[in-house]
Amino acid sequence: MKCSECGSDYIKKVGTIVEKDSIAGKYKVHVEYYECENCHDKLYSLETCKILDKERLKRRKKIMKYEKYMHHGNKVWVRSDLIGKHRDYCLCMVCKKLDVTDRKKNCKIANAVFKNSVKFNLVTPMWECPEFLCKNYM
Ligand code: SF4
Ligand SMILES: [Zn+2]
Repeated sequence: MKCSECGSDYIKKVGTIVEKDSIAGKYKVHVEYYECENCHDKLYSLETCKILDKERLKRRKKIMKYEKYMHHGNKVWVRSDLIGKHRDYCLCMVCKKLDVTDRKKNCKIANAVFKNSVKFNLVTPMWECPEFLCKNYM
């Protein structure tokens, strides 16, 4: 099999590889894989991918814990490692259209989401939005 990056041959190997997951972080797994003899690009078989997935999920399960805490006077469930971090991920926090000082001038989408959050005691950071206008680049 030829490497799609440089055209050299892949060599079958067995060894420890280090993978990285956004939640589980870095983890090591001993598996069979193919490595390009020139650029060291790695290829994994379906079986190896399954082993990597299993390990990743096992590590995520260890880390991801959930708890109830008081937020604006209500007990709410949250992933333990994300308590209070919603602002760090919310697009509205860096959007030109957010104006919390004047609800009438404020973004209609943000107002509607906020109304819904209050109604159901939710915390809903804006993850994706078609109307986003970044403060930092305008
Ligand atoms: S446009 Fe989108 S990101 Fe900007 S304030 Fe409104 S809802 Fe938030
Ligand atoms: Zn290569």
